[in-house]
Amino acid sequence: MLAEPVLLMGLIEACRATIAANSEHLCALDRAIGDGDHGTNMRRGCEAVSAENASVSSLPLPDALEKIGLTLVMSIGGAAGPLYGTLLMEMGRELRAAEEEKDFSSALKQAINAVARRGRSHPGDKTLLDVLYPVQDALAHRLPWTDIARHAERSAELTAAMRAMRGRASYLGDRSIGHVDPGASSCALLTTAICRYLEEYRPV
Ligand code: ADP
Ligand code: MG
Repeated sequence: MLAEPVLLMGLIEACRATIAANSEHLCALDRAIGDGDHGTNMRRGCEAVSAENASVSSLPLPDALEKIGLTLVMSIGGAAGPLYGTLLMEMGRELRAAEEEKDFSSALKQAINAVARRGRSHPGDKTLLDVLYPVQDALAHRLPWTDIARHAERSAELTAAMRAMRGRASYLGDRSIGHVDPGASSCALLTTAICRYLEEYRPV
């Protein structure tokens, strides 16, 4: 299975750009219920992936995703690094093992389950999982890209009503309620950037 190099290259750049543009916003969300570094962490991760964009994009898709995941683990740091890293690495492994009939969304489901195991977290715990699972569901139902992006954004907003059960925000208990989770927000931003790119992408 080969990645379409131009497509992957564009997606990596779209992700880098949205995180760079929203890095301060993500830090502000993290200052409210964490330690204020989520935007900086994500920006560092996306820049590290961007630096190897050309070589990564020429790899077969499973290899490319595994390589991106490894780079994210090493560069994002914090709690989010191993979680985003697991998502991409597992996605790569699942796609490599996939038979033709197994689709992208079921590989994504397995990868999200691996993130949940890694974080010992569940939907409703006020984490990036509260965006990942709804996005996967929307993808499985073959919703249009614009609707998937809207789902992601709404799901991130819904984390404001949740009490954090995992990560630094959980130390705040009930005081975490009323704030959007930074990881859920970065996940929605990335999903929106990816969906927007795929919506507009027209191979020549
Ligand atoms: P740190 O908390 O180490 O400073 P970041 O600020 O980069 O790391 O990331 C925080 C985000 O990571 C949270 O907003 C949350 O979405 C996610 N997160 C933290 N711990 C967990 C966990 N155990 N399971 C799932 N997601 C988590
Ligand atoms: Mg933090």
